[in-house]
Amino acid sequence: MDSIATLYVVATPLGNLADMVPRGLEVLQMVDRIAAEDTRRSAPLLAHFGVTTPMFAYHDHSGSRDTERLLDVLRGGGSVALISDAGTPLISDPGFRLVDAALAEGFRVSPVPGPCAVIAALSAAGLPSDRFSFEGFLPAKEQGRRKQLLGLSGETRTLIFYEAPHRLLESVRDIADCMGDDRVVVLARELTKLYETVVRKSAAELAAWIAEDRNQQRGECVLLVAGYQPLPDALPVDALRYFDVLRAELPMKQAAALAAKLTGVKKNRFYQYGLEHPLKN
Ligand code: SAM
Repeated sequence: MDSIATLYVVATPLGNLADMVPRGLEVLQMVDRIAAEDTRRSAPLLAHFGVTTPMFAYHDHSGSRDTERLLDVLRGGGSVALISDAGTPLISDPGFRLVDAALAEGFRVSPVPGPCAVIAALSAAGLPSDRFSFEGFLPAKEQGRRKQLLGLSGETRTLIFYEAPHRLLESVRDIADCMGDDRVVVLARELTKLYETVVRKSAAELAAWIAEDRNQQRGECVLLVAGYQPLPDALPVDALRYFDVLRAELPMKQAAALAAKLTGVKKNRFYQYGLEHPLKN
């Protein structure tokens, strides 16, 4: 391992300590300072592996003084390792500002890859993984969450969300409402831990399953949603969105005519769609 001033970005286990990668341990032992999201949360990990390097609390709200203190270690020729409570720093976790500042000053930034919930979940979900979109956490409030889900309903890539356990059920219900009851959703919960669960069902079935078993509303979870798969003769998702707004306010014939004018799609297709798919109240 070289000794030029370097900021190492080190992944740590998601739950199972045996997932700590050997090079990560070497780096944590060798650096001058460990920047940790929460020093109390990281202390047991370091103690377990006998790492004695001094820790320093760092999160993105730390303010520029804390960033400066860490940059000073690098400016003095030392090295710093950045860790978060679990998984890979910067992935829905702090560190962006520090990495950005270190690069801006010309310091070397080096990743030590390892556990990451989004990748672990995707690897076991059985959904297309050649292209995917990681969306971080959904908005906590219903209105914002539904708006975001509606905006993503035509996305053809696999979608991945982190979710808090107490919002899991509402979110899966909103996915069913905004993307369709039949959309395939995977819940990946407590990965690498005792109660690890990976379950794949339609959105409506998954919501019912979670509602029935309160244990599923505990622990840490990732939701993965199969991408939208347009049928060969399906109406474009954007066109349908216009049509749905219009037919909620107007008689269907008029809504179909207006949607046709707005989108260039034939009005009969909207009309036929409207007959086959009545609006839900
Ligand atoms: N940086 C972390 C990573 O690399 O995955 C993610 C940090 S984010 C603050 C925490 C979220 O990650 C949790 O709310 C959950 O959605 C997900 N997560 C973390 N550990 C998990 C696990 N063992 N099983 C399932 N999801 C997990």
